[in-house]
Order: sequence, then C-alpha cells, then structure tokens
Amino acid sequence: MSYRPQASHFINGQYVDDTDGEPFDVIYPHTGEVIATLHIATAAIVDAALDSAKAAQKEWTALSGTERGRVLRRAADIMRARNRELSEIETKDTGKPLSETLIADPASGADALEYFGGLAGTLTGEHIPVAGGDFVYTRREPLGVCVGIGAWNYPIQIASWKAAPALACGNAMVFKPSEMTPLTALKLAEILHEAGAPAGLFNVVQGAGSVGHSLITDPRVDKVSLTGSVPTGRKVYAAAADGIRHVTMELGGKSPIVVFDDAHLENAVAAAINGNFYSTGQICSNGTRVFVQDALYEKFIARVAARMDNAIIGDPMDETTTIGPMVSARQRDIVTNYIRIGQDEGARLVKGGKMIDGDGFYIEPTLFADVTDEMTIAREEIFGPVMSVLRFSDEQEAINRANATEFGLAAGVFTSDLTRAHRVAAAFEAGTCYINTYNLTPVEAPFGGMKASGVGRENSKAAIEHYSQLKTVYVGMNDVEAPF
Ligand code: NDP
Repeated sequence: MSYRPQASHFINGQYVDDTDGEPFDVIYPHTGEVIATLHIATAAIVDAALDSAKAAQKEWTALSGTERGRVLRRAADIMRARNRELSEIETKDTGKPLSETLIADPASGADALEYFGGLAGTLTGEHIPVAGGDFVYTRREPLGVCVGIGAWNYPIQIASWKAAPALACGNAMVFKPSEMTPLTALKLAEILHEAGAPAGLFNVVQGAGSVGHSLITDPRVDKVSLTGSVPTGRKVYAAAADGIRHVTMELGGKSPIVVFDDAHLENAVAAAINGNFYSTGQICSNGTRVFVQDALYEKFIARVAARMDNAIIGDPMDETTTIGPMVSARQRDIVTNYIRIGQDEGARLVKGGKMIDGDGFYIEPTLFADVTDEMTIAREEIFGPVMSVLRFSDEQEAINRANATEFGLAAGVFTSDLTRAHRVAAAFEAGTCYINTYNLTPVEAPFGGMKASGVGRENSKAAIEHYSQLKTVYVGMNDVEAPF
C-alpha cells in the first residue's frame, strides 16, 4: 500500500514542498509499511505560511459574515461528497477502521464547517444604553492569525473543529497536524481553497513539537489552539503566555463512568464498550474508570467480557472490522506496558491483555476488574483499549472517587433515578457530562475540559467566544466636561 500526497505543506492556496526540511515517514499501522514520506517545515516554510495567513486574514475579514459562511458551507458539501476518499486516507494514516472513519471523521468535520458557516452571519456585537443618553456598542472582531496544533487520533476532525469557528469569526489559521498523521489536514486546506477561501487563509505546515513551538512564539500569531496531552498543554500554554496570546487547550482525561445498581445494564455495558474501545481506545474523553455499584458489579463485568468476544479485530480497510491497530508501535508499547503494570499492581485481568503477533500495531482489547483508585491504570491516561472496572457502594463515595483526579474532561452516570442522575451530573468536576449515554459530541454542544483537561470550549456557540474578541465603542452624545 502507498499513498502519494501532492506535497508536504499547503501554503497560500497551493501545495508546496521544501526538501531542505528533514524527511519523515508516514506509516500504515496495519502493516507497519511506509506509505509516504514528507518533509518537516523549514523556517522559510513557517515564515511563508504566517505571512500569507496574515495577508489573507485582512481580505477575509472584509467579507460579510454571510459571505464567509457560504465558503464554509460549500467546503462542508465538498467534504461530504469526498467522504469515502477522505475516510480511506484517514484509515491509512491512523489505522482506525473504515467502519468508523466513514461515519465519524470527515463527517464530523463537515458538520463543524456547516454549523459555523451558518453562525458566521449571525455574529454581532450589542448596543448598550448608558447614562445621559450616551451609548456603547460592541464590535465582535476576529483575533487575527490563529495557530492550530493537532493530536493524531482524529486528524481531520481536529483540524476542522479548529478551522471552522476560527474562519467563521474572520481569522486565518496555520495548522500543524501531528507528525504521526499529517495527511488529511492537507485535504481540508485543499477543500477550503476549492470552496473559495482566499489563498493563505488556511495553511498546513508539517513538523513535530519544534515547528509547533516556532509557530506559537511568533509575533504574527494571536491565538493558539492545541489538542494534545496535558504535558504538551503545559508547554504550549506557557509558551503562548509569554506573548499574552489567547489559548484553547483540549487535553487528556481519565474520565469516570458511574453505573448504579438501577442502571439499564445493556446500555451501560454498550456505553462502556464504546467509551473504551472505539478508535482502539485512542479517544481523549474515554470513560476509562468504570465505577460499578456492588449489586451489579459481577454481572456488568460478565456482560462486557461476553460482548468483547464479538469484536472483529483486523484489517481496518475491511468494513466489517471493529477494532483496528494502535496508531504506532510506540503507542502500542506504551499501552502494553500499562497492562503489565495493571497486572503487577494486582488488578484482575478478565480479558485480553496481549499484543497480537504480526507487523501491525495490534493489541487485544483489555478488561481489568477489581481496579482500585491508587493503581497506576486508574490514575494515568493510557490512551488505548483498556477498560478498568472499579467497585463502589454509595453515591457520595462514587462522586468523591470519580472527582479524585487532576483531569476533568468528561464523566457519565447510568441510573434510572431521575433526580440522582442530575445530582451526580452536577457534582461531576468535568466539562462534558452524560446521563445514560456516553461520548457523543455533536457540534451543537460545547466540548472541553475542566481542571487539567483544558481551557476553553470547542464546538457550539461557545467556541465563538474563543475565536473573537469584543471591542467596546463608547459614543458621547453630550458636551465633554473637564475640571479646568
Ligand atoms: P501530544 O501532546 O504528544 O501532541 C499534540 C500535538 O502537539 C502534536 O501535533 C505535537 O507534535 C505537538 N507538540 C508537541 N510538543 C510541542 C511543543 N513543545 N510545542 C508545540 N507543539 C508541540 O499528543 P498526542 O498527539 O500524543 O495525542 C494524544 C493526546 O491528545 C492524549 O493525551 C489525548 O487525551 C489528547 N487529546 C485530547 C482531545 C481533547 O479534545 N481534549 C482530543 C484528542 C486527543 P508531534 O506529535 O508531531 O511531535
């Protein structure tokens, strides 16, 4: 298998390359083969991307919101029309099964482009009457040039979730995908250009952390939006702070799902399966600590284990496959190491736990029971297909233990007691909470973390606040008085 990207970068409306940049390989996780080789952005490439973004932003912000929205909505249509092609590239790049990418990846990118395209024409300030007939009005203005930096688990979704609100508000963006998954952000750039975005409005440059660092510390940049791990978030936040830049941080998690005795068992089991094994567990908001109340505990574990037998592990291009490989050998090894630590620290391995032989980066979906709060697998983000089940007895205990983490991305509760469901959701220290479902992220709903899991919100009208700023204009309607 191979894939031939047009070039490494997309700048000022065209594909460009600079072979002076260090080469890096794109690896197909199913086979370990190199499917493409790209180049890391040189300083000249980064410079060209920022210059063209700065120029394009002026042109773009002079359009009306409706005109900007039209471009985004056209891009959404193109993305949907090319869904299969884009999904296949995403599957080659990430190893995620086509059964997922066909419905979840470009599709959610298109949703974001459509939603923020619709909002673009509605973005206004307000009129504020003040004393003596004077008044104030506010203008909602763009920030300028935004930098987007993506993780490797949802490459085209992350790029679109950042580009759509940024562009709707009148900003330009330079996007750096993860070095591990560089391919589909280029396609987003191509599609936006085809939809009528001015050259330079959305540029893609490749590279690892050092390229990201050179972007976020550049004086031409006004805002940084990162999706990544908490340690990277701390570095990027600190670097952005030096220039007093706006930030959005979408970081990692160790989210709880709390299942009470009165829960609908199969729904809770299905949600825990989705929330631990979808995308081979490589999802930031996964519910990796599943707290189950005493009376349901063994039944829950038995049902999860039984349903895990139905997983179809293998070739991600086969549309019947439901579990693909990990994104990289490194990520597989990290997860394998956590599984070993889980066993060493005394968790009960109910199912899975082994690497699968072959060239691909496969690992068995893994179920641990009898996990306790202090175990490493209950505290650290694993980012792989490992479910930990913990036992609890009463509501307050479950809330306390669910919240006893530095993370606060998501949380879920399963119960048929209406008041308890809302009470527990209110008590969770997490940005996105679920009652009797888990891990749905429609574009209409805000998404983001509390505590170390992040700053700011993506999706929904809330994202507008993070890609625009208010200018206050005070209008004097009276003579100006002075003491002398
Ligand atoms: P990383 O934090 O390793 O990397 C994220 C991005 O930041 C990559 O593009 C990386 O480049 C870049 N980067 C690394 N160091 C720096 C730096 N010093 N300055 C600027 N950029 C830098 O995350 P992963 O790619 O490993 O993704 C997994 C993580 O992302 C998990 O923790 C997961 O929870 C989180 N995540 C959060 C989501 C959310 O919405 N809250 C959604 C999805 C994932 P490169 O990799 O090329 O070196």
